[in-house]
Amino acid sequence: MNGRIVVVGSLNADLTIYCERLPLPGETVHGNGFSVNPGGKSANQAVAASKLGGDVSLIGAVGKDPNGDMLIASTEGAGVDVSRVRRSGEVATGVAVIAVDEHGENNIIISAGANGTLAPADVTTEAFDGASVLCLCLEVALETVEAAAKTAHDAGATVLLNLSPYAEIPESLAALSDVLLVNAHEASLFLGEAEMPLPTAPASEWEGVRSQFADRGLERVLVTLGSQGSVVLDSQAATGEQVVRIAPTEVQAVDTTGAGDAFTGAVAARLAAGESLAEAAAFASVAAALATTRKGTQAAYPGVEDVVRHRS
Ligand code: ATP
Repeated sequence: MNGRIVVVGSLNADLTIYCERLPLPGETVHGNGFSVNPGGKSANQAVAASKLGGDVSLIGAVGKDPNGDMLIASTEGAGVDVSRVRRSGEVATGVAVIAVDEHGENNIIISAGANGTLAPADVTTEAFDGASVLCLCLEVALETVEAAAKTAHDAGATVLLNLSPYAEIPESLAALSDVLLVNAHEASLFLGEAEMPLPTAPASEWEGVRSQFADRGLERVLVTLGSQGSVVLDSQAATGEQVVRIAPTEVQAVDTTGAGDAFTGAVAARLAAGESLAEAAAFASVAAALATTRKGTQAAYPGVEDVVRHRS
């Protein structure tokens, strides 16, 4: 039976404007399309995990405004328990203002809004009753992230930390993280701007990176490599295979926005279902690749049957 997944973190309305080219400082350019969509890394991860069959609760904060209504509707509509998403009368829902040019290049400004009010007091012990996985990112205050990690750890849940958007974290938070999920850039920053193998490099070239993470107490790490797949660095692997290269899933990608969140949510769902880290990463690789074949984030995330069909 699947264990419960708790996601603690951000919900944002993504306000996206499409333009031929991004404006220079002080310049105004004409846009040619505008959309408002549900987003925020934690909301995306919760939706991805839920669509893949996870039993997911989200802890977060939004304002009492139309963006907040939209985010509650989208997460709840995907089957996520939103009873612990607090609604603030004083602060607006978080927004990400995104400009995308015709090459898909983007600029993003995030206003945390209600996400900035999410506090350790929002993370109650009883929210972790029966939880097997906690999914965290860094779009809310570090003290809240750490409080959630501590509460989950004490409840015996696996703490999955997505180190994004990158920030330095205290050693105490690293010590509470059972699984770290990073892209290659974040991995390099975490290891003091260490040089990373090429995304196409075989497993053997990742051995040094595994040992650098292990030296810092992080024995289970997933590094995502965009269209080149991912690599599992598991110093505790029951199979003894400490580095496993997950080959990319070949798809016709049309929009890679939120692929990292689809991957993270999928890993959470499969760890909660009792899979090993390498099994979870292999499943997540297919789920995230499928997410890139449709425009958007939450609406583009696949269901479990889509992934199973693609793998068979
Ligand atoms: P973002 O912040 O845009 O969500 P990210 O840097 O966190 O991205 P990526 O490494 O770009 O994460 O992507 C996460 C995972 O999604 C990859 O490990 C891979 O499994 C899958 N993926 C991403 N892009 C592609 C692609 N073009 N084709 C196939 N799979 C992809």
